[in-house]
Amino acid sequence: MRKKEEVKIQSERILSQSILCKTLSGVACPLLTITENVSSYLKYSEELKIQQLLPPVLKKQLKQKYQKVRKLIKQCQESKGKVQKLLYAAFQEEIKCFYEYNEEAFLTVDASFKNFGDRLTQYIKDHASKKAVVITSRVHPGESQASFMLDGSLSFLLSDSELAQELRRHFVFKIVPMLNCDGVIYGNYRCSLLGCDLNRKWLSPNKFLHPPVYFSKQLIKHVHQERKCVLFCDMHGHSRKQNAFFYGCTYKNFEYEGRIKNAQLRVIPLLCCHKNPTFAFNECRFRIEKMKESTARVVIFREFNIMNSFTLECSFFGKEVAVPRPAGFGPDDGEVETKLVHLSMEDKIELGSQMVQVLENYLPSEQSKLNILSGKVLDIFYEEFIKFVPAWILRREEERK
Ligand SMILES: [Zn+2]
Repeated sequence: MRKKEEVKIQSERILSQSILCKTLSGVACPLLTITENVSSYLKYSEELKIQQLLPPVLKKQLKQKYQKVRKLIKQCQESKGKVQKLLYAAFQEEIKCFYEYNEEAFLTVDASFKNFGDRLTQYIKDHASKKAVVITSRVHPGESQASFMLDGSLSFLLSDSELAQELRRHFVFKIVPMLNCDGVIYGNYRCSLLGCDLNRKWLSPNKFLHPPVYFSKQLIKHVHQERKCVLFCDMHGHSRKQNAFFYGCTYKNFEYEGRIKNAQLRVIPLLCCHKNPTFAFNECRFRIEKMKESTARVVIFREFNIMNSFTLECSFFGKEVAVPRPAGFGPDDGEVETKLVHLSMEDKIELGSQMVQVLENYLPSEQSKLNILSGKVLDIFYEEFIKFVPAWILRREEERK
């Protein structure tokens, strides 16, 4: 067991906690940010402020202010050998322009934006190339499995393992551990304090009535604009099915491009099932049902075009495990049969941990392997599709007669 101090120093470097918003009852809904050098990551309020201020900057001031930058970039294109140096100068100049224009605006809004220019420079240096992963949990307060899974994800992401370090170097993890704090505190099974299912409010959340959903949506929109979001995962518990499985979305376009995308969005669930058989691929569904159109997964997929947008479900009950039939009972002695076993707390923690571990395949160094993998999934998917199409055409022909 590590000393408390060690853990504290380590977590200060990679974990920051802030408040996403206040809930209806006034409870602070926490937001965690996990990444390497998190101390230079902007505060949540600053991130939102940049989002508001950037559009007018681009519209009004860009032309004059960025003339110098454009000149430098042009020189870069013409020069040979000095490109790196010039690009760096252009980058510095760009930051300076942004800073000069914005400092006044920031300072008048909030004293905490002091030295914002320097901080912004450091922020871009440390985090500009990272991609984002967003995880939310406990929108349905009764589904406590979600918290166990999230516990596993957090423990892994904050660990010293080489993979965790690598993930922190390349991703910014934005995590809302408890979307429906009120529901949990007041002992609701599915609803918020207002008595509504927050996972049916993502289409047009109200800032005052459904604050955690409204601000999570803002957050996801912002991180995706700034640094492509490679995975959005909303953790739940399922009261009827066994095992753990994903609900994903689908592109309706069955031309080549659509088929590729539909194959690519099956890769994360497939990788999870490959890692741990408790993730059951045959239970995963990739579709958009009418009644699910206002859930987190569908809205994030449709509005922000985030392909890997999933609901991760974990059974309330158990997992199926393969066991050999004991000998001495009849002709099928020794054959393998499936048996239901209760999911333990450790099982659920393990599932959450493995879910983030598969992001290994999304590291920049693994891009070529990921492409090959997506191609393989496409082949399988296409074979299934071809099998399905003739039956469907035949049925239609039948109906016409
Ligand atoms: Zn749920």
